Amino acid sequence: MSKQDYYEKLKHPLWQKKRLKVLENYNFKCYKCEDKETTLHIHHLYYDNKYKNPWDYPDDALIALCEDCHEVEKVNADSCIKFLIKTLKERRFLTYEIHRIAEGFYKFHKNYDGEIDADIIHFFLTNEEMYSYVANYYINGMIDEK
Ligand SMILES: [Zn+2]
Repeated sequence: MSKQDYYEKLKHPLWQKKRLKVLENYNFKCYKCEDKETTLHIHHLYYDNKYKNPWDYPDDALIALCEDCHEVEKVNADSCIKFLIKTLKERRFLTYEIHRIAEGFYKFHKNYDGEIDADIIHFFLTNEEMYSYVANYYINGMIDEK
């Protein structure tokens, strides 16, 4: 789909309806900075070819962001994803291991708060004592299964 086709679709009444529903879900404020004054945009957290139209996405794939936060999100998206993959590869993760991590996130609880969960994961990965505790728990579980 060309950019022009995409922008045409954003004029469609079904997108307008979906957009309003998402804005209501976020109480007409930016998810990130909670601003109510700046123009709000609907941000697609991801794109998937199985959804033909912007309004086909499930509600949890869409968030309300003010135009400033939306711009920051769009500008940083590609570089952040590249940084994540590069870091995993530098830490010697092979593709099947990266796939395993992605699978873990796929099964991750749905009622998340992205910011809090990112902080918890960061804490876990940077706290050696916590990591050792969980690693021992996991390894002991494997031994018990035998
Ligand atoms: Zn904002």
